[in-house]
Amino acid sequence: MTNKKLSPATLCIKAGWEPSKGEPRQVPIYQSTTFKYETSEQMADLFDLKAAGYFYTRLQNPTNDSVAAKIAALEGGSSAMLTSSGQAASFFAVLNLCQAGDHFVSASTIYGGTFNLFAITLKKMGIDCTFVDADASEEEIGAAFRPNTKLLFGETLTNPAVNVLDIEKFARIAHSHGVPLIVDNTFPTPINCRPFEWGADIVTHATTKYMDGHSTSVGGAIVDSGNFDWAAHADKFPGMTEPDESYHGLAYAQAFGKNAFITKATVQLMRDLGSIPSPFNSYLLNVGLESLQARVERHCANAQVMAEYLSQCPEVAWIKFPGLPGDKYHDLAQKQFTKGRSSGVMCFGIKGGRERSIKFMDSLKLINIVTHVADAASCVLHPASHTHRQLTDEQLIAAGVQPDLIRFSVGLENTDDLIADMEQAFASIK
Ligand code: PLP
Repeated sequence: MTNKKLSPATLCIKAGWEPSKGEPRQVPIYQSTTFKYETSEQMADLFDLKAAGYFYTRLQNPTNDSVAAKIAALEGGSSAMLTSSGQAASFFAVLNLCQAGDHFVSASTIYGGTFNLFAITLKKMGIDCTFVDADASEEEIGAAFRPNTKLLFGETLTNPAVNVLDIEKFARIAHSHGVPLIVDNTFPTPINCRPFEWGADIVTHATTKYMDGHSTSVGGAIVDSGNFDWAAHADKFPGMTEPDESYHGLAYAQAFGKNAFITKATVQLMRDLGSIPSPFNSYLLNVGLESLQARVERHCANAQVMAEYLSQCPEVAWIKFPGLPGDKYHDLAQKQFTKGRSSGVMCFGIKGGRERSIKFMDSLKLINIVTHVADAASCVLHPASHTHRQLTDEQLIAAGVQPDLIRFSVGLENTDDLIADMEQAFASIK
């Protein structure tokens, strides 16, 4: 199938699995830990990476690979892998390029879990991260780079502040320092934004969110554009260009070309750290992906209605949603996102501050309080008390989280019903 000619709505359904005569229409679930061979030599060739094939699901599984291929096609990448969570995807994407003694630069406005991973856990492993204001100038961000800096990281649409990342600017900064740009594209999904077209090199996802879309399965994905020239920066990336002793001296960039990054992450990191999703979860993810285009369009249309409603409410102190013409990121969203659509997520504060915001949330009846976004069911969360509660006040502000901030993820319900729920909640806090 020539994916390049197909539109995203078609790729959502067709990419990754092409049944031939008599084969199942739906991706089969290969619920097997292992795979049988006829000779010991056949298996030995797989271990030596001389032949491609499956031998143990901790590294690769056909169901997972079909779904990863669909996500690669949607992003316009050369290859992809699935992970058991979005956290594992962020972790692997960084660890595939950094080791103890290395450094990387990240936007400070990122998901709280990713911030914690970068600031605390990776630091314990000897990998240092400098956080920068994503809206700072190229010179200011460039000043954070060191000789041992290996990558630049950002979120295309930040959780929870819904700031839009200027991907072209970030790509320019990364490339002028000889390192790749990795972006987390969870919130816009490839339906609204294809970061490779703006210069990003590697994309990560929490597939847990819109890609799954129905709150069924935690999962992640890493997609490589295949565009970064590892050999041109061999001094910085010996892991990509020098022989790997654990694979008989094989060098990934030379042996696997555009698939080098994903191959290395699979055969080293998956092999050793084992964060593979269950094939059943990947099957559920694929069912979600089939309707991704239709759902994302509806999430965004509903969100536009709700943002316009909230921006008129006298009880609302402030609202952030890139779809509103007055929003700081409106113009960038118009440029970078398909039809200017960002996602179904927005954030706002209620007049009277933190306590009243919490009281308002507690008064909602139809809209759920859950630790989630991007679900078919609308939901709210108070990041300062929930997802970001491990951050200090200073870190909260740097992550774009005000204490009264309510994160609102608009689902697929009828917006009249959602507005009625908000109206009764506003009435109950009067
Ligand atoms: N990236 C973003 C933007 C997220 O919102 C999340 C989770 O909310 C993650 C990564 C982590 O994903 P997971 O919860 O699947 O580990």
